[in-house]
Amino acid sequence: MYMIMRAAALLLAGFLSFGTQLDAAAPEAEHGQLTHAPEDSWTMPSAVVLIDAGHGGIDGGATSGSTLEKDINLAVAQKLYLLLNSQGIPAVLNRNGDYALSDDNRWHISRSRHKRDLSQRRQLTDEIETTMLVSLHVNWTKNSSKFGPLVLHQSSGESALLAFCIQDTLNRQQQTAFYPREGKPFYLLRKVDQPAVIVEMGFISHEGDRTMLTNPREQLRVANAIALGIRQYKWITR
Ligand SMILES: [Zn+2]
Repeated sequence: MYMIMRAAALLLAGFLSFGTQLDAAAPEAEHGQLTHAPEDSWTMPSAVVLIDAGHGGIDGGATSGSTLEKDINLAVAQKLYLLLNSQGIPAVLNRNGDYALSDDNRWHISRSRHKRDLSQRRQLTDEIETTMLVSLHVNWTKNSSKFGPLVLHQSSGESALLAFCIQDTLNRQQQTAFYPREGKPFYLLRKVDQPAVIVEMGFISHEGDRTMLTNPREQLRVANAIALGIRQYKWITR
């Protein structure tokens, strides 16, 4: 429930902060009078895009020198969150700071922090009426010449279509021509019922991608491309 309240606070914060700067993801409603409103005054939209900012807290994700994947994921996720909400597509972020989602998980009894982290991300898709899950990540490989975006999808046609739309808009933004792929072994893709995709926005191990993904202006362009892909998917499936 706490997570619902928190997500709702983030969501409402998004509506209230419409038009404010993109890097201020407006967490103030979490402690504002909104959280003390009677429960029945909450106006949750019927369905939302859940933005999963990959990793967080002690889980930095992929790294290159001092550049951490979790920071890139969060920066783009916050921009995407504000873009979607300002474009009339209700969206929620599952973390709005640098913390591990496993710390929010008080229901999954497991010694594995990683399992609790993943099950917490999946659980949110049940607690919030989610139309789709978009999980943001940055790729890594030993081969430092590999670059470009890659969107992974579930076996369902809807997920593949969502992946195709986002891959296409990211290809245009980054001038690449890659195809999305089915991401069979990934927990989130296996466990989430709604159309879900993992967006690998580029390679942290590639200098050019890393430079792009750590630049706030370029992060906004990446977020814009993902938002456009989501809008195209919504238009096709409306
Ligand atoms: Zn990752």
